[in-house]
Amino acid sequence: MKVKALNGFKDILPGETDLWRKVEDLARDIFARFNFSEIRLPILEKTELFARSIGETTDIVEKEMYTFVDKKITMRPEATASVIRAYIEHGLYVKKPVQRLFTIGPMFRHERPQQGRTRQFHQMSVEVLGSDNARVDAELMAMGSMLLSELGLDISLEMNSLGCPECRPGFRTNLLAFLEERKEELCDDCKRRRSTNPLRVLDCKNPSCRQIVQDAPSIQEHLCQECTSHFKAVREGLDQLGIGYSLNKFMVRGLDYYCRTTFEFVTTDLGSQSAVGGGGRYDGLVEELGGPKVPGIGFAMGMERLILLMLQKEGKEDLHAEIDLFVAGLGDDASRLAFSMIHTLRKQGVDAAMDLDGRGLKSQMKQADKAGARYVLIIGGDELAKGFGVLRNMATQEQRELPLNDEGMRVFAESISTVVS
Ligand code: AMP
Repeated sequence: MKVKALNGFKDILPGETDLWRKVEDLARDIFARFNFSEIRLPILEKTELFARSIGETTDIVEKEMYTFVDKKITMRPEATASVIRAYIEHGLYVKKPVQRLFTIGPMFRHERPQQGRTRQFHQMSVEVLGSDNARVDAELMAMGSMLLSELGLDISLEMNSLGCPECRPGFRTNLLAFLEERKEELCDDCKRRRSTNPLRVLDCKNPSCRQIVQDAPSIQEHLCQECTSHFKAVREGLDQLGIGYSLNKFMVRGLDYYCRTTFEFVTTDLGSQSAVGGGGRYDGLVEELGGPKVPGIGFAMGMERLILLMLQKEGKEDLHAEIDLFVAGLGDDASRLAFSMIHTLRKQGVDAAMDLDGRGLKSQMKQADKAGARYVLIIGGDELAKGFGVLRNMATQEQRELPLNDEGMRVFAESISTVVS
């Protein structure tokens, strides 16, 4: 009996991993430009951490978590709660008044798998803890936009403000009154949400609910003075940095902890899974989780969706592993020499490969091609006797001789490192 991977859990195969690394490397580079430091966190946490931060009545906590019920532990469905737990546990607020942290890794949610939605997926999450300055909000959105644009993706930014504990209750009351009049027309989920989490009705995907909420009161018109000026300052910051965005009064995001700015990076190229990333401000959360009164904001970008978009754009052909050199040794003696030569080259930083199984020249050239070799060094009986191999540049087909000794290897390794740097 063949054992297969679990539904919604995917292998990321060689070739694909190159693209994953490309995305990760660029993200790390951009996060460094914005002065973020990496934090690595455990995958398992106490269940109560997520229940308390994400919220008992959210979809994630109600039905999507992978929980070991007897042990009261859960595989993290997102990273913010864990980042804050670590921030409090290690007193990171003492070390720096404003912490800019990022983490990259797998998350787990028991959702129905479909294109762009898996049960294990990967997020790049960034959090800024310790500042409620609206410029931080603008800067974070600018960083997300920079990442997407440097990946060559054309993605829109949508933004909203959810207000704060001062102004949200007033909005909630008005929204509830509005929903009360239309309760019979709502979908079953929203009938339930009306009492548990009425704001979520605003972003229900059901077409009839979408229609109903078109006339719903707008949170943006209920913001208190402070939230209004914060929202205005965020928009000014975005304008100053030249970041385009649109306002979306229906965007409430799934989690309880958000306040003020919320935002999403969206695309129409992924079917129903339109969000590539999203986040927002969570000023009360650190305190809620037992830490000091410290404001925070963050976002998470979903790597699977970025990869899907890049594959749509670039196609699979570009996913070609590349090596510097393939050494084609013909016959036992040449093969023996090649075996030690590639080891010497690898010590000098060259990506090198050879055929270890003594196949013929044609087959070896095919392997070199598959490996994406920039050069092939051919060593037959004649070359071995002369002490010079034939070095072929695979792009130009130019050939030259290379001494089959340490000096030859050193010269080749140096020429490769100058090309690469
Ligand atoms: P969220 O934490 O729900 O705001 O999600 C942030 C981002 O993570 C989304 O925009 C997606 O790109 C990604 N994401 C969330 N859930 C999934 C999933 N089940 N499968 C793949 N990507 C996901």
